[in-house]
Amino acid sequence: MQKYKKRLEELRGQMSIVNETLLDNLNMLFTISNKIGGMKDKIGLPHFDPVRESQMLKEILSKNKGPISQDVIKRIFKEIFNATVDEMRVEKRTRLKVKRLPDSKDLIIKVKGIEIGGKKRILIGGPCSVEDYEQIYETAKKLKSLGISVLRGGAFKPRTSPYSFQGLEEGGLKILRNVADEFHMAVITEVLNKNDVPIVSKYADILQVGTRNMYNYSLLKEIGKIDTPVMLKRGFMATIDEFIFAAEYIYAGGNHQVILCERGIRTFETQTRNTLDISCVPILKKEVQLPIIVDVSHSLGRKDIINPVAHAALAAGADGLMFEAHYNPAIALSDSAQQLNLEETEELVNYLKPYFDF
Ligand code: PEP
Ligand code: MN
Repeated sequence: MQKYKKRLEELRGQMSIVNETLLDNLNMLFTISNKIGGMKDKIGLPHFDPVRESQMLKEILSKNKGPISQDVIKRIFKEIFNATVDEMRVEKRTRLKVKRLPDSKDLIIKVKGIEIGGKKRILIGGPCSVEDYEQIYETAKKLKSLGISVLRGGAFKPRTSPYSFQGLEEGGLKILRNVADEFHMAVITEVLNKNDVPIVSKYADILQVGTRNMYNYSLLKEIGKIDTPVMLKRGFMATIDEFIFAAEYIYAGGNHQVILCERGIRTFETQTRNTLDISCVPILKKEVQLPIIVDVSHSLGRKDIINPVAHAALAAGADGLMFEAHYNPAIALSDSAQQLNLEETEELVNYLKPYFDF
């Protein structure tokens, strides 16, 4: 018994030494792979290279003298390689300027006396598209009477069909601006391409980059050069990491006034137009210091369940909500099914009262 105990102790001692050597070697391996990751970033190569990985595995397996089986060795090294690629990504992410550091303060964006990302939550409302003066005037009047100070409406519309209403363009921008000025509201409206950045920023207080344009890096770079606040919507098939990188394009370009907007992603579910990814709100809050708005209209595509979903988005930590409202949704030229009428808008605002003090 004593003999076995002594031998066990010896073996444990040997194991500790080997563990330490393994640890040192793993640290050495990760240091080298992080350097490789940095160089790959510089020349624009992806971190994961399946061909190189299988070459390395082949080499390792050919040198394996046992007693560990080839399968086990393969599994262990695959696990190590995966971890090195993940680690490269961490390295890369920590360099992002939008990334929240332990001492980062929440970024507060001030527009026409309204703070976005501050202590108070905000609501953004208005129709899908700007259609005419009366529509914007009647809708804005109601919104303002409910305490809502940011008016939305598309003048340049990204429509799935080229035959659908494409927006009033500059005429629509003028209507938005005039009505918003009359009611002391701020204007948010979409810019579809980089050539339109000057004209849209002439009328808008906040530019909107739509879901279809989240990957339009030349547009993001152009917006990075100006100082108009921008709300960047998540691509409907974008991961959270891709969304953060898109925001980085604008922020790193010099425009720090970036608001993120979760508007649902495309999944297999058909009961809603998109699937609202509620968990992205607290994740983004942890990862970046930018304000986050949830668009409850485009994520749902329907209005019968908007109240509880809006509540959930605020409970998850969103800095505000965006929704579509129209004084007469039945005649709306786009998204008529999801736009709230004026009574429904009032119901929504009342429902959300605990989160607001207007
Ligand atoms: C919009 O908000 O007007 C819009 C078109 O939304 P999305 O880009 O999210 O589809
Ligand atoms: Mn719409």
